[in-house]
Amino acid sequence: MDIADTLSCTPDHPRRVEGDDDSVPVPRREYKIYRPANAPSAAKRYDGYEHYLISDDIKAPRTCRMENCESRSKIKCEKCDVYLCLSRDKDCFKSYHIGSV
Ligand SMILES: [Zn+2]
Ligand SMILES: [Zn+2]
Repeated sequence: MDIADTLSCTPDHPRRVEGDDDSVPVPRREYKIYRPANAPSAAKRYDGYEHYLISDDIKAPRTCRMENCESRSKIKCEKCDVYLCLSRDKDCFKSYHIGSV
């Protein structure tokens, strides 16, 4: 597990989401959905700011963190530190950060 990475992004200071007039579905309440230990906070995930694709140098691809997606990927969001798949007909990277499909 990437313990060092997890420590570097503790969501102690959730940032205000930009663009309040947009209909960005930012959950106000605590979501009871499946949430991995090192998932980014919703504020961070949906802020639409500086989410960069990085191709991780790992042997085996990790399971995509997009809800209901079971694909595997070596691509991850540098900011969120989650793996997300990206292919011709599936763009979990985008979907993950938009919050709706
Ligand atoms: Zn991200
Ligand atoms: Zn996916």
